[in-house]
Amino acid sequence: MATHNEWFEIIKHKDDLYIIREKLAEIDPRYNSYYTNLFLLLGSKTALLIDTGAGLFPLKPIINELIGKRDLKVLNTHCHWDHVGSNHEFDEIYIHEIEKLTISRPTNISILKSSPKDVVKRYEKYNYSLPPANSVKPLKDGDIIDLGDLTLEVIHTPGHSPGSICLLTNRNELFTGDTAHYGTPYLPKKKLLPDFLSTLSKLINLCEKQEYIEIYPSHEEYVVGLELLKDLHKGIENIENIWDTRVKNDFMRSWIIDDGKFKYDISRI
Ligand SMILES: [Zn+2]
Ligand SMILES: [Zn+2]
Repeated sequence: MATHNEWFEIIKHKDDLYIIREKLAEIDPRYNSYYTNLFLLLGSKTALLIDTGAGLFPLKPIINELIGKRDLKVLNTHCHWDHVGSNHEFDEIYIHEIEKLTISRPTNISILKSSPKDVVKRYEKYNYSLPPANSVKPLKDGDIIDLGDLTLEVIHTPGHSPGSICLLTNRNELFTGDTAHYGTPYLPKKKLLPDFLSTLSKLINLCEKQEYIEIYPSHEEYVVGLELLKDLHKGIENIENIWDTRVKNDFMRSWIIDDGKFKYDISRI
């Protein structure tokens, strides 16, 4: 079985931006996502870790090695288990205020017991319940996170989950969490899709105001362009027209619709 150093893939994407990847498909392929991306930004004073992954292997030793003498802030883009798994290793976690309570409690992951992958046995020590965050700090739309030379603005983007956030840096990097990524985006139920489209329009408008933009999603390709948001918006608008092609996904209690570009997972609950 892998050690924590073998489990995470660490990519130095820029001098001050690391991507720490783990293979979600190796934990449970039923999620239809191959990679989860965590991001570590090294500001001149403070480092920021965006998401803590699945919690299968210790993450903190890796982060400590990369941040040197900087202070560390840790943030969750939203409360889903694949983003909050190692929260308990850190003193304090920032998350949108709507999801504060969720990560203050243990996260039930008993659904993973039936994964075909052996590595999930590592969760037995937690009895398939991820430990809660030690202390939680709320974020809201418009908050600024100051890392010294780098700052990030919090953008509330409800849809994938009620408290999902994106983060825009002062040098035009947009971290989108699960709000936008290639592969299999998980969407709210059909009648809420117009709200999700509003969230995407808001992001597109914001990005179009910048001279250029780099987008860093939390699953699959870790750096893409504005076309991700535009493709996703266009694709979701078209879901109504191809609704008859949907296939039932019992694991996620959702409908799957594949338009060749995205494989949408649309909640039924
Ligand atoms: Zn999610
Ligand atoms: Zn996710």
